[in-house]
Amino acid sequence: MPTNRNLISVRAIALSGALLVPTALLAQGHAHVHGLVNLDVAVEAQTLTVALEAPLDSLLGFEHRPRTPAQRKAADDAMKRMNDGASLVRPAAAAQCKLAKTTVESEALQSTAPAGGKEDEHADLDATFVFTCAQPDKLASIELGLFDAFKRIKRIEVQVAGPQGQSKQTLERPQKLLKLAR
Ligand SMILES: [Zn+2]
Repeated sequence: MPTNRNLISVRAIALSGALLVPTALLAQGHAHVHGLVNLDVAVEAQTLTVALEAPLDSLLGFEHRPRTPAQRKAADDAMKRMNDGASLVRPAAAAQCKLAKTTVESEALQSTAPAGGKEDEHADLDATFVFTCAQPDKLASIELGLFDAFKRIKRIEVQVAGPQGQSKQTLERPQKLLKLAR
């Protein structure tokens, strides 16, 4: 699992005494690149977990707390689309997957604190979609609705961990089919 690798690298950095590495790099293994979205796809027994991490710029075109009614509306719309897991992540029908849980978090969009102070920081949104699949061995592919829902996304970098091992794939707009079986 990627988590283990991160733990090991954190320990290595601590041992080497290089403690000035930005915490953002330690906390999240993915780079913050505008237009890009990172997906971690894990299949374990009957559970399919799709974890998404996106710079807010990839979804909204801005990364600060909404300042105008138009930005507030854009942020609310984006949260609504992101919460529609069933349209964003569509596992192959043969696998008989059912969406069990959706979690969407973005401090910049959800915090009630007044705008200001941290305006220059790059903000992210994290979402997790958990499915329960009756036939996980038939999960040959997943169709992603992200390019349709968010026009600013150009590329999706995917890490897959499952019964067949780990792999990396990159989907460029307008590709939407993530293949899991080799
Ligand atoms: Zn940014």
